[in-house]
Amino acid sequence: MERLQKVLAHAGVASRRQSEKLITSGHVRVNGTVVTELGTKVGVHDQVSVDNVPITHEDPVYVMLYKPRGVVSTANDEKGRQTVVDLIENVSQRIYPVGRLDYDTSGLLLLTNDGELANRLTHPKYEVEKTYVAKVTGIPSNDAMRQIRQGMTIDGEAYAPAKLKLLSSDQKKHTAIVQLVLHEGKNHEVKKLLAAVGCPVEKLKREEYGFLTLKGLQAGDSRYLKPSELAELK
Ligand code: URA
Repeated sequence: MERLQKVLAHAGVASRRQSEKLITSGHVRVNGTVVTELGTKVGVHDQVSVDNVPITHEDPVYVMLYKPRGVVSTANDEKGRQTVVDLIENVSQRIYPVGRLDYDTSGLLLLTNDGELANRLTHPKYEVEKTYVAKVTGIPSNDAMRQIRQGMTIDGEAYAPAKLKLLSSDQKKHTAIVQLVLHEGKNHEVKKLLAAVGCPVEKLKREEYGFLTLKGLQAGDSRYLKPSELAELK
């Protein structure tokens, strides 16, 4: 048996606090009866609905995927392209990605049906470090590196300071490999930052998500998180 607000949050209905409001304001029914008591506990056989829309509460599942390039990170794609969810085998629950990686970006992506954890991990306040390695056209100058490290404003949008390392450069080919560590997860952030300093991204991979790494996985592989990893993430 679990507390009703936890069941709603896990199902991805809303955050725990918002779920409490839904309950106290009479939007939630258990087995057809409106329940406004926050301590109410429900089991797997209880029918829970929000505004008469039934929710399913399944066992939470947490998966790490090495996303290959050429796959979308939404659960459904209107163009019918392969999605990250299509790549996960042996999981019967409906899971969805925590945040996004671009179609042409590879790397570490978490998938879960735990809406509460997904909300928290993608909240700007929860500063999970994300480590990317990018191949760029051009070789970033010291000044370019300084701008990214200090934080930039691009088209009116402010980007927080990022850690940036030049891993290697090839003068002849006019390319470089850089490592970028970000706390925030704004749309196309790595590509925008590097393009803004004149070094557009040719290839991008997310190598780490907090303490999680891709060790032991090949592109397209996935695995469940270990209980110890889950405990650290939560
Ligand atoms: N930044 C990007 O530009 N693309 C990604 O996929 C992730 C971070």
